[in-house]
Amino acid sequence: MKCADFERYCEDWLSGVAGEEFEAHLRSCDRCREAAGDLAGTRALFALFRADPPEPSQGFWVRLEGGLTEADRKAEFWTSLTLAAQRAVVALGVLALGLGLWIWTHPAPPVAAFDAPQT
Ligand SMILES: [Zn+2]
Repeated sequence: MKCADFERYCEDWLSGVAGEEFEAHLRSCDRCREAAGDLAGTRALFALFRADPPEPSQGFWVRLEGGLTEADRKAEFWTSLTLAAQRAVVALGVLALGLGLWIWTHPAPPVAAFDAPQT
């Protein structure tokens, strides 16, 4: 086996099914042995990332639920404020409509009524 064949057989070697020829080359070639060591280290590192994440403790779920409840209370506050703002807008609209109706039904007095003697 030559160094140029390393890439072709290294995946098999990492899977544990490399032939004796590849193993013999690794024993005799420093460069390929170092490359194989790097690949094995990298593969082990990736294996750590693929491992199942640890299950959170029961305390984590209690704290999470407490945080969600607090968040829900804040959201409810803002929702109720929004509802209050909507009611205020409707109330102001009704008030403006009523005021406009009152002004329309109660015309201003004639100008002559203001002609009082000046003192
Ligand atoms: Zn080599």
